[in-house]
Amino acid sequence: MRTGNEAPHPRNAYVNGKVVPIAEASISILDRGFLFGDGVYEVTAILNGQLVDNPAHLARLERSLSEIGLRSPVPLSELPERMQSFVTSEGVREGMLYLQITRGADTSRAFPFPDPEKIPPTLVMFAMEKKLIDAPVAETGTRAITVPDIRWSRRDIKSVSLLGQVLCKQAAVAAGVDEALLVEDGFITEGSSSGVCILTRNDVLVSRPARRDLLDSITRKAAHLLAGELSIPIEERPFTSEEALNAKEVFCTSASTLIHGVVAIDGHMIGDGKPGPVTRRLRELYLEIAGSEPVIVHNPVFP
Ligand code: PMP
Repeated sequence: MRTGNEAPHPRNAYVNGKVVPIAEASISILDRGFLFGDGVYEVTAILNGQLVDNPAHLARLERSLSEIGLRSPVPLSELPERMQSFVTSEGVREGMLYLQITRGADTSRAFPFPDPEKIPPTLVMFAMEKKLIDAPVAETGTRAITVPDIRWSRRDIKSVSLLGQVLCKQAAVAAGVDEALLVEDGFITEGSSSGVCILTRNDVLVSRPARRDLLDSITRKAAHLLAGELSIPIEERPFTSEEALNAKEVFCTSASTLIHGVVAIDGHMIGDGKPGPVTRRLRELYLEIAGSEPVIVHNPVFP
C-alpha cells in the first residue's frame, strides 16, 4: 500500500538518447562516472509538469562541464527540449529531473582524459515524483547538526563525486536529524545537499558569497531575489555557526526541497522551533512564481 512517504522512484531512464524502463537501464562498469566520479550533474525541480528555472541549471551545467573539460554528447542548445519532453513523456507533474554527464566508458582505466572522439560521454536522465508544494518539511522544518566540511576544494563544480556529502548526510541521519551544516574554519559553507541562509536579529539576510568553496545554489539565488522584492536587506558574506545558532531564522535551499526552515542546530532551537515567517513567505512567493515563470530568468547565473 502506498503511504505517500515512499522514496521517489523513477519509471524510465533516458540513457544516451534511448528511453528504457529503469530496471533495464544500464551503463558500462567501466564508465568513468562509476570508476572515478568523473562527471557532473544537475537536479531541476518540476512544478505543473514544467522544469523550474532550467536555464539557470543549464548555465551551471555548462560551467561545470567546462571546468572539468567535458563536452556534452548532446548540444547544450538541444538539452532544454530533450529534458522537457522526457519529463512530459514520464508524466511527472511535481518532482524533479536528474541529469548526469560522465566521461564515458574507457577500457584502459587510465587517469588522464580519454580521447573524446573515441570515448563518447554518457548522458543519463530520470524523473521522479516528489511532493514539493505540500512537502511535510515546509511545516515541520529541518533539524540539523554541524559537521566539519570534509569535501574537496572545488565545490562550485556540481560533481558526481559526492562521497564527502554522503558521509556528512549520514552523520546527520545517525544523529537523528535531517541535514548536516558543513563548517570550515568556524564558518558554515552550506548544507550537505542544500544552500543555507540566516536571518539576523536585525532582519538582515546573510548568505555566503558563491566562490569555489560552495555550490552556487540556484534556489538560493532565487531566495535572494525574492528577499529583495520583500525589501529585506541582504549581506553576502560568510557567517559562523555561532551566528546561525543565534539567528532569528535559518533556512536551506535546494531544487528538491525548495526553501525550508531549519528549526534546530546541534540540539539548540532556532526561533520558536518552527519555520519562521520570513522563510515561510519566501517559500510561498517561490511557489507562486515558480510554477508559471522562471524565477531568476532576468538574473543570469554566470553574468
Ligand atoms: N549545495 C549542495 C552541496 C547541494 O548538493 C545542493 C543541491 N544539490 C545545493 C547546494 C542546492 O542547489 P540548488 O538550489 O541549485 O538545487
